Amino acid sequence: MDQPLEARCDHCKQTRPVFLYQPDHDFHLTGITCEWCARDKQPLLCTRCFSAETLREENTPGHPDDEAMAAFFVQAAQNNGRILARQEADKTTCDGIAAATEQARDTP
Ligand SMILES: [Zn+2]
Ligand SMILES: [Zn+2]
Repeated sequence: MDQPLEARCDHCKQTRPVFLYQPDHDFHLTGITCEWCARDKQPLLCTRCFSAETLREENTPGHPDDEAMAAFFVQAAQNNGRILARQEADKTTCDGIAAATEQARDTP
């Protein structure tokens, strides 16, 4: 953050050190913008209002299409990481099935 600037907070209208609010996400995967990104000008907020705004932004769900796209990428990244683990798990499963088949065959 920049050096605080004494000015009137855009939320509580008190003269306090204020900071220019910046949404913590500056892109949207689907090109859909949210309330924060769509603003012409971000508000100048005192620290209290700033954290309240951050909290509100965090708790505001994104556009469903955007969420779906983000979830897709997260899933893809997780899948990449899991491929090795899954290959190992698949092998174990196959061994397990083979063993079970053996047992079933031996059981009258
Ligand atoms: Zn304020
Ligand atoms: Zn946004």
